[in-house]
Amino acid sequence: MSKSIPVTDGTNVIYTIELKKDFGDLCKELTRLKISPDQKLCIVTDSNVAPLYAKEVQDQLSAVFSNVFLHIFPAGEASKNTDTVGALYQFLIENHFDRRDILLALGGGVVGDLTGFTAATYLRGIDFIQIPTTLLSQVDSSIGGKTGIDFMQYKNMVGAFYQPKLVYMNLSVLHSLPGKQIVSGMGEIIKHGLIKDASYFEWLIAHEKEIWALDPEILEEMIYISCNIKRDVVERDPKEQGERALLNFGHTIGHAIEKLSDFTLYHGECVGLGIVAASYLSMQLGHISAEDFARIKNALSLFELPLQIDGFDAREVLLATKSDKKMVGNQVKFILLKEIGNAYIYRELSDEQILDGIRYVCHE
Ligand code: NAD
Ligand code: ZN
Repeated sequence: MSKSIPVTDGTNVIYTIELKKDFGDLCKELTRLKISPDQKLCIVTDSNVAPLYAKEVQDQLSAVFSNVFLHIFPAGEASKNTDTVGALYQFLIENHFDRRDILLALGGGVVGDLTGFTAATYLRGIDFIQIPTTLLSQVDSSIGGKTGIDFMQYKNMVGAFYQPKLVYMNLSVLHSLPGKQIVSGMGEIIKHGLIKDASYFEWLIAHEKEIWALDPEILEEMIYISCNIKRDVVERDPKEQGERALLNFGHTIGHAIEKLSDFTLYHGECVGLGIVAASYLSMQLGHISAEDFARIKNALSLFELPLQIDGFDAREVLLATKSDKKMVGNQVKFILLKEIGNAYIYRELSDEQILDGIRYVCHE
């Protein structure tokens, strides 16, 4: 089991995404990138991932590289801030990291986003490598070069587009991931099918049992297809000037709910709710049929994503969608479905229409 996906800037390959069954090829991949044994490496990880995988990765790397460092910060979104970046800068300075040295992000999206941002800014940019360990980070956040941190109460407010030199994923780490995190990743994966590939959407429904059982071959195929969908979109629109916005399907309302829940709901769960609302609006506009809408809801519930939620005021959710940084002027950029597998950007939704979609999923 091993697959490789090259990511290009339109012309040249800028990095590859490696799907592996263990960490055994990590040194080989770094050597292929011409990283030499005397370059310093810093594994950045969080307090949950460290006890599970840091030693194994450190031991693997130490067999070839003579200076392997480990930096651990407390797990969770609350760490994705300037204080944690500051502590990492300090660690790098104290250990004399220079321009040639390299960061390795071992963890979920929080570790990846924060390490990528630190790499983008330390000494005006040093190389970094993504080793994503959650389903969400494997199919989504480790690809495409968006790095960043939260600032004040604003998510991903400060950041940079900065590409990794390699994305190396060991799919077997998904076995230690709490079930809720698998559910969260499935929100993004179902989204990939809905916006780009109807047959993939059907495939997910057909392989529900194997996916839940974390069947290695099915998992590999699923992650491979999802990574390819994300790669395809970001290659054509790296800086989100057009098509990349399609990846925000389910995210306008999803982010608003996530924020109002004070991040107690998982990202993928909120995306799932946003998908229900956006699909409902797509049906109201006459694009998708009632059967398609029912199929979408069915797929989400197969993967235990919620379809409705109590305790949210629809008007407050609407207000929160307006503070989304992806707004153009005062107009929310909404992603809707023309059909399953085909999404488009729609700017003309009225507040009343959006409220209608929100009310379908949010109940007081
Ligand atoms: P996360 O990084 O917080 O990981 C979720 C939890 O799982 C954490 O507690 C973590 O310690 C734990 N964990 C990670 N790997 C594990 C493993 N193999 N076994 C057991 N536990 C493990 O969250 P996430 O869902 O991976 O990522 C969410 C973050 O990603 C958010 O900050 C979001 O903004 C960001 N994101 C970024 C992009 C992008 O394009 N850069 C895209 C989507 C999301
Ligand atoms: Zn997302």
